Amino acid sequence: MEEIVKLNLKSENDCLLIREVNSLVAKAKNCVIITRAGISCSVEIPDFISSYGLYNMIKSQYPELIVNARPTATHSFIKKLADMKKLKRVYTQNIDNLEELVGLDVDWQFERVRNCKAQVVQLHETLSKLRCNACTNICPFTLQYCDIFKEGKAPNCPKCEERENTRVKQGKRSHFIGQLKPTVILYGDTHPKGLEISQIAIREQNKADCLIIMGNSLRIPRVKDLIRDFARAVHGHNGYVILVNAMDVANKGWNGVIDYQIEGTCDEWVKLVDLELLNGKRILTMTKISLPNLKYKQEKKERNVLRQI
Ligand SMILES: [Zn+2]
Repeated sequence: MEEIVKLNLKSENDCLLIREVNSLVAKAKNCVIITRAGISCSVEIPDFISSYGLYNMIKSQYPELIVNARPTATHSFIKKLADMKKLKRVYTQNIDNLEELVGLDVDWQFERVRNCKAQVVQLHETLSKLRCNACTNICPFTLQYCDIFKEGKAPNCPKCEERENTRVKQGKRSHFIGQLKPTVILYGDTHPKGLEISQIAIREQNKADCLIIMGNSLRIPRVKDLIRDFARAVHGHNGYVILVNAMDVANKGWNGVIDYQIEGTCDEWVKLVDLELLNGKRILTMTKISLPNLKYKQEKKERNVLRQI
């Protein structure tokens, strides 16, 4: 079974090799990216499985962090891949909706799966939007609603209120006024577009030639299944699976699934890939590379990517 090649961004030798890995990204034509909280940590939105995570933040009724959050270098990098027509789709577990702020299409309005133009699949929907529990009206989560949530209340739906005002003027009996709640889906809840997401992922697997897993600690069973499905498809197209995470998280169970694990922050890594996208040809002249723990890879010669001379 092929082992994962683990590279550390803080090692000078590894950084040279990481550039080789980055050249794979530069050459890929259909990248699928799976992201989690690790790509947003640099804007001070905590990982939502940590003790100070997003779910605790919701309970603490301090949603300003979401309203004020701004995209990171990683979000901009993903947008750049999209602009270069290299991005197939992003599947994110994040609920901050920062992809939309860099200009990626998160709109799920479509009639058929093959017509889905959304570049981002929000696996847990988003905290940046509020949905009425009566009429399903969707509103943006603005600062105006923050104070109401901080008081432990939920704001009334403006659409329901407008309808109610009209009814009162017409002398009709009053109706129920819905309340706005974050659209976020908690673990265990069913995603309203779960079937469509599965269908889109299956279609995507026909073409994906590079899978990049970013800021993800590989803990959620359904996402682990998604990663394994995509990895199988990517390897079938002679592509590569790259994991970028601040900590070493890929154990032996991921051998044969993940090809390269880069230990470092996503923002650090994307800056290096950016160089590769700009100077893709330069990497081909690099010949002298040495790193003992890559011997296994060299002996196998199955992928023959990291040349060791
Ligand atoms: Zn409503």
